[in-house]
Parts: sequence; C-alpha cells; structure tokens
Amino acid sequence: MFSAIRTRLTPRSTRAQLTLWYLLLPAGALAAVAVFVFVARARTLYSELDAQLELRAQQQLGEVRPALLELDVVEALSGDRRLTENAIAVRERSGAILFRSPRFPVLGGVAEATAAGAARDGNALATVEDRFGQQVRLATIVVDRTGAAPLAIQVAAPTEPVRHILNQFAVVLLLLFVLVLSGASYGASFIARRALRPVDAIVERVRAIQASSLADRLEVRTGSEELDGLVATLNAMLDRIEQSMRSARRFAADASHELQTPIAALRTAVDVCVCGSRTAADCRAVAADLAIDLDRMSTLVRDLRLLALADAGHLVDRVEPVDLTALVHECCDIVRALAEPAGIVVSVDVLSDIVVNGTTLFPRRTLLNIMQNAVRYSPDGSKVQITVSRLDDEAVLAIADEGCGIDADDLPHIFERFYRADPARARDTGGSGLGLAIADQIVRSHGGRIEVTSTVGNGSTFLVLLPFATASDCPPRRDTPATMNAV
Ligand code: ADP
Repeated sequence: MFSAIRTRLTPRSTRAQLTLWYLLLPAGALAAVAVFVFVARARTLYSELDAQLELRAQQQLGEVRPALLELDVVEALSGDRRLTENAIAVRERSGAILFRSPRFPVLGGVAEATAAGAARDGNALATVEDRFGQQVRLATIVVDRTGAAPLAIQVAAPTEPVRHILNQFAVVLLLLFVLVLSGASYGASFIARRALRPVDAIVERVRAIQASSLADRLEVRTGSEELDGLVATLNAMLDRIEQSMRSARRFAADASHELQTPIAALRTAVDVCVCGSRTAADCRAVAADLAIDLDRMSTLVRDLRLLALADAGHLVDRVEPVDLTALVHECCDIVRALAEPAGIVVSVDVLSDIVVNGTTLFPRRTLLNIMQNAVRYSPDGSKVQITVSRLDDEAVLAIADEGCGIDADDLPHIFERFYRADPARARDTGGSGLGLAIADQIVRSHGGRIEVTSTVGNGSTFLVLLPFATASDCPPRRDTPATMNAV
C-alpha cells in the first residue's frame, strides 16, 4: 500500500524527481537544525527566567524576613508597603495561605493545590495556571524560624514574556526556513536541469536520426561518465542497425539483380516465340532454355526463403540424430556424378558411427554445397578428399580440394550473401553466391561452425565442426562466426 502511495506521489519527470530529492534532503536537515535551535533557545530562556525568579525570591526573603519573625506575621506583612509592588505569597508548610500581595496571581483550584503542594514539599520551582489561563512560574523558599513553625514564601512571574520571545523566534526561524528552501528549490531545479541537459541533447539527436541518415552518430559531450557510456552504447547500437540495414539493402538489391537476368532472358524467349517467324522446333529449343532459367530462379527463390527463415530464427525447430557417416557416403555419390565428367576423383575416408544432430535440411544441404564447390572450383583430373573424424566432443568433416584456392582478400567475405570471389567464373558454374551463406547459417543453427584454410593455386580445405548428437534436442546457436584462415 505504501509503495502504491509512493508511486502515486512520485513525479513522473526525472527532472522533478531530482529537484524533489535535492530539496527534501536540505529541507529535512534544515528542519532538524531549526527544531534543535528552537529547543535550545527555549531551554535557555526558561533557565534564565528560573534563575531570575530564584534571585528575586532570595531578595524578597531578605526584605520580609524581619516580618516573618514577628508574632503576628500576617499583620506585619500587610503593613509592609514595599510588598504591594511584588508578586509574593507566604504560606504555612501545610500549604494554607497566610499572606498574598495584590500582584500575586489568583490561582484556580488545581493551580492552588499545586502551589500549596510546592510549599508543603519544598519544591523550589513549579508552573501553574492562574484563573485567566495565563501560565505562571513559582519559586518557593522554605523559611525556618526559631521557636515557631517554618513558613514558605512564594514569588511568581508570568511565563508570557518568554513565550512571546519564543513565538517571535519561531516566526523568524520559519521565515528563514522558507527563504532557504525557496533558494534551495531554485538551486535544485537549476542543478537538475543542468544535469539532464545532455539527456535532452541525446534525445533530440536520436530523434533526428532517420532511416535515411543512419550513418549519423551522437556527438554529444556530456561530461558525465555514465552518460558518455550511454552515448557510446547508443552509437554502438546505431553501428549495428546501420550494418544490418546496409546488408538488408544490399541483399534486396542483389536478390533483385539475380532475378533480373533470368527474367530478362524469359522475356526475350517469350518474345521470340510469339513473333511468329519461328518454327515449332525453334520454340521447343527456346522452351528448353526457359526451363533451365526457371529452375535457376526457383532455386534462388527457395534459397532466399531459407535465408529469410534463418534471419527470423525459424530455421531449426526440431532436431534428430543423423548418421553422418552414411550421409557423407550418400552425398559423395551425388557429387561424383558431377566430378566424373571432369575426371575429378572424389575419395572418402570416414569413421563409422558418427552421429550428429540434424534436420531435414541439415547436414545434407551443407555437405552438398561445400562438396559441389570443391568440384566446381577444381581443375580437371584433380582430387577431392573427404574425411570425417572426431576431435574431442565434435565431429569434424573435412573437404579438401586441389582447386584454384581463395585469395586472402576474398576469404573473409565468402560466407556473405551473393559474394563471389570471381563473379564471371562463379556464374559459369551456375553459382548464385548463396551456397556458403546458407551452409554457414545451417551449421550455426545446429551449434556448429565452418572453418576454411586456402592457398591460391593449391586448393582449399573446408572444415565443418559439429557437436555429437545428444539425447536431448540440440539447442540452436545462431551467432558463432565462421572462422577463416588464408595461407
Ligand atoms: P557460389 O554459388 O558462387 O559457389 P558460394 O557461396 O558457394 O557461391 O561460394 C562463394 C564464393 O566462394 C564462390 O563464388 C567462390 O569464389 C568461393 N569458393 C567457394 N568454395 C570454393 C572452393 N572450394 N575453391 C575456391 N573458391 C571457392
């Protein structure tokens, strides 16, 4: 409940909250100091009043002592004219009043009982209220008399002057409190505004950054370690957004470019067929070419969809154990069909019973992509060596070729979408530049990684490292970067 009240009372603006805190702390301290000073002042004033009263009582005693020794004390006191100027009373020890000067306050029942009690008990000081509700301080002195009963003399003084001074003092303190607090509130709001000025600048700058100006960065000097950290974090975030926007734009441009070529070919082919001057045999030949282009387009569209799924994190839903040994043999048979016309020998050296986590996509698609590349980029009559081994808790599939190799400048980019180290050659081989990007996405989605070593003119070796299958499903890991080494 308290937290609900606090939440409701706390202002929503940070500036107002800071101002409030900057204000509450000095206000609390000031109030404590004011109370302390007021109490100390009150104690001093009351002690001074008591000291004066006691001194007056002693002086009065000196004056009335001869009268107190008389046989008829009352008459002796009544005859003393000096006493009319003073507020003095004389009582028996029982409390009964013998004499009261005209200035001695008229006390009500309770106050009279208190005053009588002070005389009886010998209380030096007491506070009572007179009939009119005014506070009166009483000083009592017990006077011993030889041969007669002791008496008590009481001197009274109103506390009103002290209270008057204290009231004035309280008003002064209050005014000072309000004055200091107004100054502090102005100072607090100034400090809060100053402290939050860089935040306003950051907000304004971030607002100004649009999709079209993602290269802009926050150049705000805050003078504060924390806010500088925030600026650096926001700039790093802008770097990442810019990076992904740039690759999304490049991806869209590359995809449309890739589709444009076969679509243009389709258009030309259709124009050729409908112009009427071609024979049925010509049209059949054109249709055969169209079928190849259509196949290429549908493969491209399928690959794009697969990458879109990978970007959305939906590439892998359920995995199951896959016999990697059997699968490598199966893929090698497919790749051999591609290699044989060029006289490329595909040799296999695979450990048995290697089981990894897989899906319908994986590992078949990955293996085929990398193995086909090994054959595509190898010269006629060369050799492609495929091995599967174990390394600690990972299965290692190595595909080594004796092909053209990959230049060190190209190596960091070969897993990028639509990247071709040698575009003309890659297009000849039917490659779209998506094969390794897809292989990399798939392997990463299964918790593995791909490493490459390559020497230009001597060939390349692709290593696919995969965790062995476990009883539970393999948790997809999406952000392990592919590692590259150029020799
Ligand atoms: P593509 O469909 O063009 O082959 P990939 O994504 O499979 O696209 O490969 C990207 C680029 O990496 C290729 O264009 C090629 O230049 C290079 N590459 C891939 N594998 C090999 C290899 N085994 N030998 C030489 N270059 C390769």
